[in-house]
Amino acid sequence: MRSGLRYYVVLRSLLRSQSHLRRCLRRCRHCRIFFLTHPRNARRSDLGCPFGCREAHRKRRSTERSVAYYTTLEGKAKKKMQNGKRVRGGGGRAAATQPETGALEFQAGMVGYVAMVASLIEGRRVSQAEMLRRLVRALRQHSMARRRRMDYVMAQLQKHGP
Ligand SMILES: [Zn+2]
Repeated sequence: MRSGLRYYVVLRSLLRSQSHLRRCLRRCRHCRIFFLTHPRNARRSDLGCPFGCREAHRKRRSTERSVAYYTTLEGKAKKKMQNGKRVRGGGGRAAATQPETGALEFQAGMVGYVAMVASLIEGRRVSQAEMLRRLVRALRQHSMARRRRMDYVMAQLQKHGP
């Protein structure tokens, strides 16, 4: 909840200082959160947010597609073969669903989103690779600062007692 509030505070101040981004403000059609979209999508109202909904929707559609595929004869035969393999390999029921790569995909989507917003703010193309480097650096500095703070707190505690 608190991070959600902070998100809106940041978004509001961003839109105040970067008024050209106001036309990129869209609402997720699934969870209703506000987010920024690329100007080329600014007129669409059927968008999902990059915080999980877009990905979930994409996944649902691909599941629907593979369900449809497996109802075809060819698919049925293939599935039979896979099931056979699984039994021999001793794989459990968990293997019946698609591999869980959700966390990684979500992260990739987020980097793309932040890169897109940075491009709009900075008025130049910020690639996902550049944004990833910047995020990694920022996170590293953040955790270093936190460690330094913790060291300071620990030193103070040792000096003055708990
Ligand atoms: Zn959403």
